[in-house]
Amino acid sequence: MKRNNEDKADRGEKRERGFQKRKGCRFCAEPALMIDYKDKYLMQPFVTERFKIVPRRISGNCAGHQRKVTTAVKRARHMAILPYTTAQMM
Ligand SMILES: [Zn+2]
Repeated sequence: MKRNNEDKADRGEKRERGFQKRKGCRFCAEPALMIDYKDKYLMQPFVTERFKIVPRRISGNCAGHQRKVTTAVKRARHMAILPYTTAQMM
């Protein structure tokens, strides 16, 4: 019984539950990459399939760039480049 618990703890460390986006801010890594609200393909990795903004702990963005992405997504929604949400699927 004790051994079981230890096994679980060991596995838990390596597993990151489904989402495994690479870490590190890609905008810091590539300074030439501009965050542009008109570029929906640039923003696609930062929204979920239902167009929610992906949180920083998942996207790996730094605080400054995450803020810019958030602003860009919101602008894009306002300009109808990205939807606010999808129609209900259920
Ligand atoms: Zn950054």
